Amino acid sequence: MTPANFDFHCHSTVSDGLLPPEVVAKRAAANGVDLWALTDHDDLGGLAIARATADEAGMDFVNGVEISIEWKGVPIHIVGLGFDAAHPALSGGLDELRTGRLERAKRMGDSLAAIGIPGVYEGAVCFATNPSLISRAHFARYMVSIGIARDVSSVFQYYLTPGKPGYVDHRWATLEEAIGWINTAGGVAVVAHPGRYKMSGGDMRRFLDDFKDAGGQGIEVTCGSHSPDHIMHFARLARHYAFHASRGSDFHGPQESYVDLGKLPQLPEDLKPVWRLIR
Ligand code: AMP
Ligand code: MN
Ligand code: MN
Ligand code: MN
Repeated sequence: MTPANFDFHCHSTVSDGLLPPEVVAKRAAANGVDLWALTDHDDLGGLAIARATADEAGMDFVNGVEISIEWKGVPIHIVGLGFDAAHPALSGGLDELRTGRLERAKRMGDSLAAIGIPGVYEGAVCFATNPSLISRAHFARYMVSIGIARDVSSVFQYYLTPGKPGYVDHRWATLEEAIGWINTAGGVAVVAHPGRYKMSGGDMRRFLDDFKDAGGQGIEVTCGSHSPDHIMHFARLARHYAFHASRGSDFHGPQESYVDLGKLPQLPEDLKPVWRLIR
């Protein structure tokens, strides 16, 4: 059956979302989502409970994850969909990524301490439900709570983005690793929110060439951070590369996301929806 409202991008407390996976599942169903994926950063820990809750709510579910990679120095996110969560290629790769995150978080804490803001690593850990998945979002929430800035986006702007004191370089997975793990586990790799990367048009095309060569098949066209212009632009690129198109809110929580689960425009009609590759 053709889904009326699929949402293939969102987060729970297993990564940097604000709601537990079962609550995200119920919220998606209540919002009219009929085909859903939970895509926590670098961790598969929420999928079983998300699937069980989706089943109860009568909503179709596919496994998802959002993998942090770096391509030619640019941090990029790759969404994996419809894989076997028990496959060691994917789960083993993600285990390593999370170990790297922990060590990075400590360096971020050191770097903030050096400018006179001590204890931020320890504070961020308290904001993370999953101790092995500490994200800049947890740093930002803690820093708002101690009055360093008025909201999460200001913390990012002044402390947590490249060139700012709390930002440290980190070696994420490579594009080939992430797509390899996803494909080996039987899934489909999708470029997350392409409109958010600070890249020239030429670099974007070079990136998409590499993504396709490495076995990537999909691109988010409609997503929480895309303007109508982004949707038109990435729809054109999806046609050019013969990619399947995805749609995802990137919902993190009611307080922090502009777009709620399922509440975003439909894909342009001529595009091939990515769920066709999964079911
Ligand atoms: P990390 O994976 O630790 O680098 O953290 C990235 C996460 O921080 C993203 O997935 C978002 O949840 C959040 N984030 C990134 N940039 C911003 C921003 N400018 N404002 C608010 N949240 C952001
Ligand atoms: Mn996030
Ligand atoms: Mn992302
Ligand atoms: Mn995301």
